[in-house]
Amino acid sequence: MAFEGLSEKLSNAFKKLKNKGKLSENDVKEAMREVRLALLEADVNYKVAKELTAKITERAVGQDVMESLTPGQMVVKIVNEELTELMGGDNARIEFASKPPTVIMLCGLQGSGKTTHAAKLALMLKNQNHRPLLVACDIYRPAAIDQLKVVGAKAGVPVFEKGTQNPVKTAKEAIRNAKDYGNDVVILDTAGRLHIDEELMDELKNVKAEVEPNEILLVIDSMTGQDAVNVAKSFNEKLEISGVILTKLDGDTRGGAALSVKAVTGKPIKFAGTGEKLEDIEVFHPDRMASRILG
Ligand code: GDP
Repeated sequence: MAFEGLSEKLSNAFKKLKNKGKLSENDVKEAMREVRLALLEADVNYKVAKELTAKITERAVGQDVMESLTPGQMVVKIVNEELTELMGGDNARIEFASKPPTVIMLCGLQGSGKTTHAAKLALMLKNQNHRPLLVACDIYRPAAIDQLKVVGAKAGVPVFEKGTQNPVKTAKEAIRNAKDYGNDVVILDTAGRLHIDEELMDELKNVKAEVEPNEILLVIDSMTGQDAVNVAKSFNEKLEISGVILTKLDGDTRGGAALSVKAVTGKPIKFAGTGEKLEDIEVFHPDRMASRILG
């Protein structure tokens, strides 16, 4: 289960507060020390953990105790609000183009779940009465094109491919095709690599410049914790992404990526992947995620 260790440690940190009628500054500070440790063990970025607990301490120490709540519950409420804020506050939506088609460019490292999530996103949009078109822009790995065709067929969404033709040309042809056939959303599955390299970034920058996508969503694997956050930071610096799809939240991920990515990159998590099936995708709700983490 995701966040299990973090949830347990946070609930232990709050247990001591819950039994007290009145909290001293020291009680709060002690609890926040435990919270910070729990966050660090969950692979949350060091600076993020430090700033978050400082903010919670400041609010909790200065609080007027609400009549209906015990001071301990008040602290938990503040933590919940701050975790929600940390992950972006409201859920972030897709920015649809005023004039279709809306172009969504998916990028990410190999194995992050990019191709699977291209199809998941397509299926989700199809179920919302959109008419998506999937486009294979990974020209280096024929297996990736085949994989997109397989998942596209499963989702009942057409797949546009031009083999090893340059990805910019492929994307442009696909967009023209979408206009002709009434597809209102075009999802580009771009090339992935094992590591970030200049060549990959140049190719993606080129696609971005030529196609001007409405959304650039970076797919990152939550199981890789701070590595995923570092990947997001690099992609955002080089490409300026518009949001993140955080995958594999069904695994026993510790929580570091979910809690750090917005604070580190400034870009929201828009969707979460929660399994291998094409239906396993959710709009990312920071408030629900915070409540889930707090158990
Ligand atoms: P790509 O190389 O980035 O295109 O990654 P793929 O889409 O091929 O996914 C890599 C592996 O991760 C595949 O075995 C997928 O089934 C699996 N996968 C993708 N998303 C999820 C997810 O949300 N949960 C789980 N459990 N597995 C996933």
